[in-house]
Amino acid sequence: MIDVIIIGAGPAGLSAAIYVERTGKHAVCFEKLTVGGQIVNTPEIANYPGIKKTSGFEFSMGLYEQATELGAEVIYDRVNSVVSQDGGTDEASGGGTFFKVSTDSGKEYEAKAVIIATGAKNRHLGLDNEEKLTGRGVSYCATCDGAFFKGKDVAVNGGGNTALEDALFLTNYCNKVYIIHRRDEFRGEPQNLEAVKTKDNIEFVLNSTVAELKGDKALEAVVVKDKNTGEEREIPVSGLFIAIGQEPDNGDFAPVADLDKGGYVVADESCLTKTPGIFVAGDCRTKAVRQLTTAASDGAVAALAACSYIG
Ligand code: NAP
Repeated sequence: MIDVIIIGAGPAGLSAAIYVERTGKHAVCFEKLTVGGQIVNTPEIANYPGIKKTSGFEFSMGLYEQATELGAEVIYDRVNSVVSQDGGTDEASGGGTFFKVSTDSGKEYEAKAVIIATGAKNRHLGLDNEEKLTGRGVSYCATCDGAFFKGKDVAVNGGGNTALEDALFLTNYCNKVYIIHRRDEFRGEPQNLEAVKTKDNIEFVLNSTVAELKGDKALEAVVVKDKNTGEEREIPVSGLFIAIGQEPDNGDFAPVADLDKGGYVVADESCLTKTPGIFVAGDCRTKAVRQLTTAASDGAVAALAACSYIG
């Protein structure tokens, strides 16, 4: 019987693991992809209190080492179900409720408490060709794939911090970077926007959406549609970096945790879901601010609440 199973080894999940281990209990994180979650792809973090500047990768590795050196385990497998079980007279579970956690590899684990820290996945445009051209010009990660576009013209779609930082990063490699955004105001921080405006090889394509992806074996151009005039323009690019935000992936947990209309897990101040013993932390929960700092903060709150629940 594991004390606390944490679903996800991003900043929220690993922060929770650190706090669980520091209370003397044992944490096992399940991660379907890579430790660090989305932040691993961020080239630069400059807004985490106490750390002036670091990369997403360095930050993630630091979290991972801190958690595992304290005794937390990370298992690379995807959790697909959490079911409450009545422990009855079972001594290992303390006679109370415990949780059966199943994974894609067909394994089952038991835990006294569970923390859902699944983060969010990249939102797709939903265009024809998008899946087919992913990895052939279409990408959701500029830091991972930017270097493949050395000397080429590329576009970034989105107006948040990710899009602005991606565009800045891509100017290091690419001949020209178009920023295609559906409005003329940006969700990203003013500092990022100012930095983008200083670059000669960035062109803004505003009030516009990507209407079509052209290319058969690889991306050759994007067709953008001006939202005000309806006019369409074809822009030849070899790369399109889609940075239009994230969406949660919590459907598997709907039987044990209420989800809001966007699919985020609803919880109270202590990160408790509707099921005693099941907590939620980080970007996957209903909240106003989704930042690294708030993910780490949730991890600490959920872990301490879970440890207090176990007793
Ligand atoms: P985001 O802030 O949600 O921005 C998504 C952008 O994509 C918005 O500009 C949005 O337009 C646009 N968009 C959404 N759906 C679209 C669609 N279907 N078609 C076209 N455009 C669409 O996402 P993000 O930039 O990935 O950032 C997520 C969170 O991480 C934010 O809190 C951000 O501050 C944080 N972050 C922080 C850092 C950092 O601190 N270094 C770096 C990256 C991200 P509208 O504006 O019109 O809605």
